Amino acid sequence: MSLVSYERSGRVALLRMQHSPVNSLGLEHRRAILAAFDEASQDPAVKAIVLAGSGRGFSAGADINEFGTDLAEAEPNLRTVIGALSASSKPVIAAIHGVCMGGGLELALGCHYRVARPDAQIALPEVKLGLLPGAGGTQRMPRLVGFERAINMIISGAPVHAKKLGETALFDRISEDDVVAVALEFADEILHEGKAHAHRPDLRSARAEDEGLLQFAHARAAERHKDQPAVAACIKALRAAIDLPLAQGLERERELFGALLQTPQSKALRHAFLAERRAAKVPGIASDQETRTLGSAAVIGAGTMGVGIAMCFINAGIPVTVLDQSAEALGKARDRIAETYKTAVARGKLSSSTKEERLALLGTESDYNTIAGVDIVVEAVFEDLATKEAVFRRLDAVVRQGAVLATNTSTLDVNRIAAATSRPQDVIGLHFFSPAHVMRLLEIVRGETSTETLATAMTLAKRLGKVGVISGVCDGFIGNRMVEQYLRQAFFLLDEGALPQQVDRALEAWGFAMGPFRMSDLAGNDIGWYIRKRRYAEQPEMIYSRIADVLCEHERFGQKVGRGWYRYEVGKRAAIPDPEVTELVLAHSASIGVARRKIEDSEIVERCVLALVNEGAQILDEGIAARASDIDVVYLAGYGFPAHRGGPMWFASELGFFNVERAMLRLARNPHGDPDFWTPSPLINRLAHTRADLNR
Ligand code: NAD
Repeated sequence: MSLVSYERSGRVALLRMQHSPVNSLGLEHRRAILAAFDEASQDPAVKAIVLAGSGRGFSAGADINEFGTDLAEAEPNLRTVIGALSASSKPVIAAIHGVCMGGGLELALGCHYRVARPDAQIALPEVKLGLLPGAGGTQRMPRLVGFERAINMIISGAPVHAKKLGETALFDRISEDDVVAVALEFADEILHEGKAHAHRPDLRSARAEDEGLLQFAHARAAERHKDQPAVAACIKALRAAIDLPLAQGLERERELFGALLQTPQSKALRHAFLAERRAAKVPGIASDQETRTLGSAAVIGAGTMGVGIAMCFINAGIPVTVLDQSAEALGKARDRIAETYKTAVARGKLSSSTKEERLALLGTESDYNTIAGVDIVVEAVFEDLATKEAVFRRLDAVVRQGAVLATNTSTLDVNRIAAATSRPQDVIGLHFFSPAHVMRLLEIVRGETSTETLATAMTLAKRLGKVGVISGVCDGFIGNRMVEQYLRQAFFLLDEGALPQQVDRALEAWGFAMGPFRMSDLAGNDIGWYIRKRRYAEQPEMIYSRIADVLCEHERFGQKVGRGWYRYEVGKRAAIPDPEVTELVLAHSASIGVARRKIEDSEIVERCVLALVNEGAQILDEGIAARASDIDVVYLAGYGFPAHRGGPMWFASELGFFNVERAMLRLARNPHGDPDFWTPSPLINRLAHTRADLNR
């Protein structure tokens, strides 16, 4: 079947894009659109043309598989197709439903008229990939929706429902009815009126306010988006829509687009985008692998994580029973969940009826027999092996065969937990991040897990709106195992001369959402303390600065107690540097005989980021992560690593492993800390001295 179907309805030709699932605009599809359009143009009986989508929408835009390849520009490229439609002597009407984004929207903008369903999702999201809409979006959009809207949509990349743009010239008709029927009717009307179809006038803005709006956007971009050249380029392109006629504006847009394609930021963002999609494909699992149906869930443990995980299920419409040994914990859990939804209603993010529907999906119980029939159980009790083993023994005895038994452990051996059951093939790690209903990352830990259970977990991740990344079994899995080395460096930096606020500032200026000390205060410093105590016993050769223990000995457990690496005012989250912490840090350096020195921000960034890179390489070499890009996804989706740097492994490969190794050997000459810390992982050695590419 052709990717574009062609039908006649009286004097109107209906071209329907049928490139499932989202009508992406790859080469074959572009060829088919142009061929159908040519057929309609050449047929003397055809007087008007309707271009419509199918399935999930009109079109979601460029084909991601063509990114960075010659195919993206191969003729007919998108600009050629749009140019042909817009130059047509017969009126062309876009019939828009569902997704209409990026190149898909630009295709619609190239038509002479547009009709849409009110809930069609309209967006120009290119900026999220460090690009600008390069097929006319920056020139046609402001002419149709005005500058203020165009600036907001193009700089944020966020989707807007068609009905919100109802009063602009973007749409000629918005209707709840079948959009193709509406478009055909609209075509008949314009033919009937016999109005010579005029090309849209080449309006240019003469409004002084538009100039002001652009200047304001420019100033704001310089302040907020300094790491994103795409934002500045979008504003330049929009300026061309004021200064130049359409044809020249399109050329200017093209030049700016070409330059953005080459920026390291866009390359990194495109890598991140593709990496996320790649993570969903599990090596060794066929695309038609059977998965189990998950219609009901239970969560064991009604603490911080249990509450968040329960909300993940509820939000996805899956009924969940929370079970805890403590009636008090269950009461509190119910209150917290109700409170979260109440706040969402108050903020206009949820309707009251949806809130009620969601709360109706929640059950709280203390008796395991009540969860015997569920399809999946997620255990989130205390991080203690014996406790978890006891819970799994119980689950094994009570819960039906074929149910998925998951643990949310952060560090423990999933296989040992599974060994407490008679069905290790059904046991898996589902490592949610706090707050579980907000954070996008879900580490899926594969023990002796069956392929079916694993595939079921991947499908669940998608259903919960998470990015699932598979990790093998090791202490800390991918994310926390790497963060431990990052934190060790951050602590050594304090011993040698830095203060928590300097380390955080340096890493945040580099792009991290949150520096390591603010992050630790948020997670609770007692959690790391607990893990370190275990390390001191199990791996005495791993050298740590003891400054974090000193902090905990002073009960500075973080935000939850109002004091940690910073102090916090009651009910507020702002981290305020605390002279008491400075004193503790200085005293600790003195106690270990280190003469403090001035540490540059660049040293802080280099040491903390390369600590992540070295452990990441080790994790990859051991096969704990299947691909370097999976490690990047973990850091981008779960640890606030700057998206425009593509994740730690992408960053390292862009730097070049030869340079990474040299930097590590230089850092190893520092007499303070752990003499073995900077021993490059064997994979880094190999990559430094061969032409192998980590990302192939
Ligand atoms: P928490 O202390 O807040 O809650 C644990 C809950 O488990 C308590 O309500 C307790 O009453 C209950 N519980 C303990 N033993 C039980 C048993 N035998 N049967 C039933 N209920 C029992 O702990 P948390 O922070 O929610 O952590 C839970 C798990 O999630 C741990 O394994 C932890 O490592 C992991 N985790 C925590 C985070 C985090 O940031 N807090 C992040 C990821 C994973």
